[in-house]
Amino acid sequence: MNPNLIESARPASRRRSVPVDVGGVRVGGDAPVVVQSMTNTDTADVKATAQQVAELWRAGSEIVRVTVNTPEAAAAVPRIHERLQMMGVAVPIVGDFHYNGHQLLEREPACAEVLAKYRINPGNVGFGKKKDTQFSAIVETALRHAKPVRIGVNWGSLDQSLAARLMDENHARPEPWDAARVLREALVVSALESAARAEALGLPRDRILLSAKVSGVQELIAVYRSLAARCDYALHLGLTEAGMGSKGIVASTAALAVLLQEGIGDTIRISLTPEPGAPRTQEVIVAQELLQTMGLRAFTPMVTACPGCGRTTSSFFQELAQTVTSHVRARMPEWKLKHPGVENLSLAVMGCVVNGPGESRHADIGISLPGTGEAPAAPVFIDGEKAMTLRGEGIAQEFLAVIDRYVEQRYTR
Ligand code: SF4
Repeated sequence: MNPNLIESARPASRRRSVPVDVGGVRVGGDAPVVVQSMTNTDTADVKATAQQVAELWRAGSEIVRVTVNTPEAAAAVPRIHERLQMMGVAVPIVGDFHYNGHQLLEREPACAEVLAKYRINPGNVGFGKKKDTQFSAIVETALRHAKPVRIGVNWGSLDQSLAARLMDENHARPEPWDAARVLREALVVSALESAARAEALGLPRDRILLSAKVSGVQELIAVYRSLAARCDYALHLGLTEAGMGSKGIVASTAALAVLLQEGIGDTIRISLTPEPGAPRTQEVIVAQELLQTMGLRAFTPMVTACPGCGRTTSSFFQELAQTVTSHVRARMPEWKLKHPGVENLSLAVMGCVVNGPGESRHADIGISLPGTGEAPAAPVFIDGEKAMTLRGEGIAQEFLAVIDRYVEQRYTR
């Protein structure tokens, strides 16, 4: 085995991008990769939207985007902003505009003012001759209000005139590319040409971010590699329409992990379709876990747990893993304030003696539960050393108390 392979198992240095200030959150440059999300409430419903923005922020979303699609939605944005301030929620709000963004921003200057960034899609900004004037109008509003703009291309709404132009150019090639390659090129060119037009209108590079989203993993990787190689704008990564449940999580992770490992991406969003009744915040947790498991950022203590096997005939260890995970998530808002660094805490909950003590020793705190046929005792390891053995009915509560004490003692200001 090539020993260099071990050395190479770490993310490449981040691509150098021009940093952008999004309502006080720095995106790009040497800033850590930022987690963002998007509401799915009717923005005109001020109460519901403010509530969901607050939930996403509390879950760890550092920027939240809202749809601004109607005059009512645009009029609601300043009221949402005000309500969030009253709730003590300080998160930059981004407006997502399609088709009528130029009109909404013009007619609701208070909306234009409180938004931290405008997202525009070059494929949906207008058609025919109106496209350029409507694009210019949005950029001019951004200039007046000193706001950054994300030029967000999506293959579901690609600028058709640009696609047709690139198809024609392709036919003229001695060896034409396949259609998929032309489509990928059209996404990249759409983003780059729109950014160049925004710059020509006076928008500085440190107020432009780009994204070019597709729903296929390999296509997304190819598109962003190309985009990253051809510009230094800050890049927003996301697999669009990732889907529901494990499919959405796996597809997003597969695509984004490759790019992040190559140093590509300044901010991410996981576009999960929530299962009925599931909280919207799941997309934030997945984004955080992706960054944390890759070693790029730390948000909350991570719980390592074995999958269980024939050596665990009860569900106790699964329940304990779940209890510990919920406990640290619930304690984080308070711990974050009182115990800086606690997000780096590592925990292990293991099902039996086979890998239990070994894995537990690798964690800051680990517990190895008794498997089938083992003595009913659960050794606890702290900082690699066996510290105690828990027994009986109260193992879960006692283990949580061990964690709380450790946090109090180790992560003190
Ligand atoms: S640690 Fe024990 S219970 Fe867990 S997967 Fe390994 S052998 Fe099975």
